Amino acid sequence: MVKSIVLASCATLCFVLATFIAVAGIPGQEIENSGHDVFYQVSTIDALMEGGFEGVRNIGELKQHGDLGVGTFHRLDGELVGIGGDYYQVRSDGRILPAPDSMAVPYATVTFFEKDLQTEPVSASNILELLTYLDEHVSSENQFYAIQLAGTFPYVKTRAPPAQVEPYPRLAVALENQSVFEFRDIQGSIIGVYAPDYMKGITAAGYHLHFISGDRTRGGHLLDVMIEGTPAEIDFTDEFFMSLPTGGGFGAINLSGDRQEELKTLEQGRG
Ligand SMILES: [Zn+2]
Repeated sequence: MVKSIVLASCATLCFVLATFIAVAGIPGQEIENSGHDVFYQVSTIDALMEGGFEGVRNIGELKQHGDLGVGTFHRLDGELVGIGGDYYQVRSDGRILPAPDSMAVPYATVTFFEKDLQTEPVSASNILELLTYLDEHVSSENQFYAIQLAGTFPYVKTRAPPAQVEPYPRLAVALENQSVFEFRDIQGSIIGVYAPDYMKGITAAGYHLHFISGDRTRGGHLLDVMIEGTPAEIDFTDEFFMSLPTGGGFGAINLSGDRQEELKTLEQGRG
Protein backbone atom coordinates (compact mmCIF):
# COMPACT_ATOMS: atom_id res chain seq x y z
CA MET A 1 0.00 0.00 0.00
CA VAL A 2 2.78 2.38 0.89
CA LYS A 3 4.39 1.75 -2.45
CA SER A 4 1.24 2.52 -4.37
CA ILE A 5 0.79 5.74 -2.43
CA VAL A 6 4.31 6.89 -3.17
CA LEU A 7 3.96 6.14 -6.83
CA ALA A 8 0.58 7.74 -7.19
CA SER A 9 0.65 10.60 -9.65
CA CYS A 10 -1.95 12.87 -8.12
CA ALA A 11 -0.71 16.00 -6.46
CA THR A 12 -1.84 15.39 -2.96
CA LEU A 13 -2.84 12.47 -0.86
CA CYS A 14 -4.30 12.48 2.56
CA PHE A 15 -4.70 9.55 4.75
CA VAL A 16 -5.91 9.60 8.24
CA LEU A 17 -4.12 7.25 10.53
CA ALA A 18 -5.33 6.54 14.02
CA THR A 19 -7.90 8.95 15.30
CA PHE A 20 -7.87 8.12 18.96
CA ILE A 21 -5.18 10.38 20.29
CA ALA A 22 -5.85 9.19 23.82
CA VAL A 23 -4.09 6.00 22.77
CA ALA A 24 -1.05 8.11 22.05
CA GLY A 25 0.00 8.22 25.57
CA ILE A 26 -1.72 10.31 28.17
CA PRO A 27 -3.67 7.81 30.22
CA GLY A 28 -7.12 9.03 31.05
CA GLN A 29 -6.70 12.26 29.14
CA GLU A 30 -8.51 12.81 25.88
CA ILE A 31 -6.91 15.40 23.66
CA GLU A 32 -9.04 17.48 21.37
CA ASN A 33 -7.88 17.48 17.80
CA SER A 34 -8.07 21.13 16.85
CA GLY A 35 -7.43 20.40 13.20
CA HIS A 36 -3.83 21.34 13.81
CA ASP A 37 -2.69 17.85 14.75
CA VAL A 38 -1.59 17.00 11.24
CA PHE A 39 1.86 16.25 9.89
CA TYR A 40 2.21 17.90 6.48
CA GLN A 41 4.78 16.07 4.41
CA VAL A 42 6.32 17.41 1.19
CA SER A 43 7.66 14.65 -1.11
CA THR A 44 9.27 11.55 0.36
CA ILE A 45 12.53 10.88 2.16
CA ASP A 46 13.46 8.21 -0.38
CA ALA A 47 13.01 10.68 -3.24
CA LEU A 48 15.33 13.07 -1.39
CA MET A 49 17.84 10.27 -0.91
CA GLU A 50 17.77 9.64 -4.65
CA GLY A 51 18.60 13.27 -5.43
CA GLY A 52 15.11 14.76 -5.58
CA PHE A 53 16.43 18.22 -4.65
CA GLU A 54 14.19 20.26 -6.95
CA GLY A 55 11.99 22.62 -4.92
CA VAL A 56 8.33 21.66 -5.38
CA ARG A 57 6.53 23.63 -2.65
CA ASN A 58 7.39 26.94 -1.06
CA ILE A 59 7.68 28.37 2.43
CA GLY A 60 4.38 30.22 2.07
CA GLU A 61 2.62 26.89 1.53
CA LEU A 62 4.41 25.32 4.50
CA LYS A 63 3.21 28.16 6.72
CA GLN A 64 -0.38 27.23 5.90
CA HIS A 65 0.26 23.77 7.33
CA GLY A 66 2.58 24.33 10.23
CA ASP A 67 4.58 26.63 12.47
CA LEU A 68 7.24 24.05 13.34
CA GLY A 69 9.15 21.81 11.01
CA VAL A 70 12.26 20.35 9.48
CA GLY A 71 13.41 19.89 5.90
CA THR A 72 15.72 21.30 3.30
CA PHE A 73 15.69 23.76 0.39
CA HIS A 74 15.84 23.78 -3.40
CA ARG A 75 19.15 22.24 -4.54
CA LEU A 76 19.65 20.88 -0.97
CA ASP A 77 20.80 24.37 -0.03
CA GLY A 78 21.02 24.00 3.75
CA GLU A 79 18.70 22.89 6.53
CA LEU A 80 15.17 24.16 7.09
CA VAL A 81 14.07 25.14 10.59
CA GLY A 82 10.49 26.15 11.26
CA ILE A 83 9.87 27.48 14.77
CA GLY A 84 7.11 29.65 16.16
CA GLY A 85 5.79 30.27 12.66
CA ASP A 86 9.11 31.62 11.38
CA TYR A 87 11.16 29.69 8.83
CA TYR A 88 14.93 29.80 8.54
CA GLN A 89 17.62 28.53 6.20
CA VAL A 90 20.77 27.22 7.87
CA ARG A 91 23.41 27.42 5.17
CA SER A 92 26.56 25.33 4.91
CA ASP A 93 28.66 28.48 5.42
CA GLY A 94 27.13 28.71 8.89
CA ARG A 95 24.91 31.69 8.17
CA ILE A 96 21.22 31.63 8.98
CA LEU A 97 18.81 33.55 6.82
CA PRO A 98 15.07 34.08 7.19
CA ALA A 99 13.40 31.97 4.49
CA PRO A 100 11.01 34.12 2.41
CA ASP A 101 7.60 32.75 1.43
CA SER A 102 8.75 32.32 -2.16
CA MET A 103 11.64 30.03 -1.27
CA ALA A 104 11.26 26.54 -2.72
CA VAL A 105 11.43 23.31 -0.76
CA PRO A 106 11.95 19.76 -2.07
CA TYR A 107 11.31 17.96 1.23
CA ALA A 108 9.82 19.01 4.56
CA THR A 109 7.70 17.83 7.47
CA VAL A 110 5.77 20.53 9.32
CA THR A 111 2.92 20.79 11.81
CA PHE A 112 1.32 23.30 14.12
CA PHE A 113 2.93 22.79 17.51
CA GLU A 114 0.50 22.60 20.40
CA LYS A 115 2.02 21.27 23.57
CA ASP A 116 0.19 18.24 24.95
CA LEU A 117 2.84 17.14 27.41
CA GLN A 118 5.86 18.59 29.14
CA THR A 119 8.34 16.11 30.57
CA GLU A 120 10.49 16.45 33.63
CA PRO A 121 13.79 18.20 32.89
CA VAL A 122 15.93 16.01 30.65
CA SER A 123 19.62 15.42 31.21
CA ALA A 124 21.52 13.59 28.50
CA SER A 125 25.21 13.28 27.72
CA ASN A 126 24.58 12.54 24.05
CA ILE A 127 21.82 12.35 21.46
CA LEU A 128 21.17 8.66 22.01
CA GLU A 129 20.37 9.32 25.66
CA LEU A 130 17.99 12.08 24.58
CA LEU A 131 16.23 9.79 22.11
CA THR A 132 15.99 7.02 24.72
CA TYR A 133 14.44 9.49 27.14
CA LEU A 134 11.94 10.66 24.54
CA ASP A 135 11.09 7.03 23.73
CA GLU A 136 10.17 6.51 27.36
CA HIS A 137 7.82 9.49 27.33
CA VAL A 138 5.94 8.77 24.14
CA SER A 139 3.97 5.75 25.15
CA SER A 140 3.40 4.38 21.67
CA GLU A 141 5.97 4.22 18.91
CA ASN A 142 3.08 3.93 16.47
CA GLN A 143 2.03 7.58 16.71
CA PHE A 144 3.44 10.83 15.35
CA TYR A 145 4.91 13.47 17.65
CA ALA A 146 6.28 16.95 17.31
CA ILE A 147 9.00 17.79 19.81
CA GLN A 148 10.52 20.97 21.19
CA LEU A 149 13.17 21.57 23.83
CA ALA A 150 14.13 25.13 24.65
CA GLY A 151 17.02 25.95 26.95
CA THR A 152 20.76 26.37 27.23
CA PHE A 153 22.68 23.36 26.02
CA PRO A 154 26.28 22.57 27.08
CA TYR A 155 27.04 21.07 23.66
CA VAL A 156 25.32 20.98 20.27
CA LYS A 157 26.64 19.47 17.04
CA THR A 158 24.83 20.15 13.77
CA ARG A 159 25.30 19.85 10.05
CA ALA A 160 24.19 21.65 6.92
CA PRO A 161 24.76 20.56 3.31
CA PRO A 162 25.90 22.89 0.51
CA ALA A 163 23.74 23.59 -2.53
CA GLN A 164 24.07 21.00 -5.28
CA VAL A 165 24.17 21.38 -9.04
CA GLU A 166 22.35 19.34 -11.66
CA PRO A 167 22.48 16.50 -12.40
CA TYR A 168 21.85 16.06 -8.69
CA PRO A 169 23.81 13.35 -6.89
CA ARG A 170 22.28 10.97 -4.37
CA LEU A 171 21.92 12.44 -0.88
CA ALA A 172 24.75 10.29 0.47
CA VAL A 173 27.13 11.81 -2.06
CA ALA A 174 25.86 15.35 -1.52
CA LEU A 175 26.42 15.05 2.23
CA GLU A 176 30.07 14.17 1.77
CA ASN A 177 30.65 17.93 1.55
CA GLN A 178 28.39 18.92 4.43
CA SER A 179 29.55 21.41 7.02
CA VAL A 180 29.60 20.33 10.65
CA PHE A 181 29.21 22.87 13.44
CA GLU A 182 29.87 22.54 17.17
CA PHE A 183 28.51 24.96 19.76
CA ARG A 184 29.07 25.11 23.50
CA ASP A 185 26.83 26.59 26.17
CA ILE A 186 24.41 27.78 23.58
CA GLN A 187 20.87 28.93 24.20
CA GLY A 188 18.31 27.83 21.70
CA SER A 189 15.72 25.25 20.68
CA ILE A 190 15.75 21.71 19.45
CA ILE A 191 12.69 21.15 17.31
CA GLY A 192 11.58 18.22 15.27
CA VAL A 193 9.32 15.33 14.56
CA TYR A 194 8.99 11.65 15.31
CA ALA A 195 7.42 9.29 12.80
CA PRO A 196 6.79 5.56 13.28
CA ASP A 197 8.91 2.94 11.62
CA TYR A 198 6.05 1.97 9.31
CA MET A 199 6.42 5.37 7.62
CA LYS A 200 9.87 4.52 6.32
CA GLY A 201 10.38 5.51 2.73
CA ILE A 202 7.86 8.33 3.08
CA THR A 203 9.27 10.41 5.91
CA ALA A 204 12.35 10.00 8.09
CA ALA A 205 11.20 7.21 10.41
CA GLY A 206 12.21 7.82 14.00
CA TYR A 207 13.37 11.21 15.22
CA HIS A 208 14.32 14.05 12.90
CA LEU A 209 15.59 16.97 14.96
CA HIS A 210 17.07 20.34 14.04
CA PHE A 211 18.57 23.07 16.23
CA ILE A 212 18.41 26.85 16.10
CA SER A 213 19.96 29.28 18.55
CA GLY A 214 17.85 31.81 20.40
CA ASP A 215 19.46 34.67 18.51
CA ARG A 216 18.83 32.81 15.21
CA THR A 217 22.48 32.89 14.19
CA ARG A 218 23.42 29.21 14.60
CA GLY A 219 21.72 25.94 13.79
CA GLY A 220 21.37 22.90 11.57
CA HIS A 221 20.39 19.24 11.49
CA LEU A 222 21.06 17.90 14.99
CA LEU A 223 23.85 15.32 15.09
CA ASP A 224 24.63 15.34 18.80
CA VAL A 225 23.71 17.21 21.94
CA MET A 226 24.38 17.41 25.66
CA ILE A 227 21.46 18.46 27.82
CA GLU A 228 21.33 19.54 31.45
CA GLY A 229 17.86 19.84 32.87
CA THR A 230 15.76 21.00 29.94
CA PRO A 231 12.18 19.70 29.74
CA ALA A 232 10.86 18.33 26.47
CA GLU A 233 7.54 19.52 25.09
CA ILE A 234 5.62 16.97 23.06
CA ASP A 235 2.68 17.42 20.70
CA PHE A 236 0.78 14.22 19.93
CA THR A 237 -0.24 14.23 16.29
CA ASP A 238 -2.66 11.75 14.80
CA GLU A 239 -3.06 12.72 11.16
CA PHE A 240 -0.68 12.72 8.23
CA PHE A 241 -1.09 14.64 4.98
CA MET A 242 1.22 14.04 2.06
CA SER A 243 1.86 16.44 -0.79
CA LEU A 244 3.68 14.82 -3.69
CA PRO A 245 5.64 16.67 -6.37
CA THR A 246 4.05 16.80 -9.80
CA GLY A 247 7.32 17.86 -11.37
CA GLY A 248 10.96 18.19 -10.49
CA GLY A 249 11.74 14.75 -11.87
CA PHE A 250 9.86 13.03 -9.06
CA GLY A 251 7.84 10.85 -11.41
CA ALA A 252 10.96 9.29 -12.90
CA ILE A 253 12.77 8.43 -9.66
CA ASN A 254 13.02 4.71 -8.94
CA LEU A 255 11.63 4.46 -5.43
CA SER A 256 11.65 0.69 -5.09
CA GLY A 257 13.79 -0.87 -2.42
CA ASP A 258 14.44 -0.18 1.25
CA ARG A 259 16.86 2.62 2.18
CA GLN A 260 16.46 2.48 5.94
CA GLU A 261 19.96 1.36 6.86
CA GLU A 262 21.54 3.95 4.60
CA LEU A 263 19.28 6.66 5.98
CA LYS A 264 20.20 5.82 9.55
CA THR A 265 23.86 6.32 8.68
CA LEU A 266 23.12 9.66 7.03
CA GLU A 267 20.93 10.90 9.89
CA GLN A 268 23.54 10.11 12.48
CA GLY A 269 26.20 12.17 10.93
CA ARG A 270 28.33 10.40 8.42
CA GLY A 271 26.71 12.19 5.71
ZN1 LIG B 1 17.45 17.29 8.95
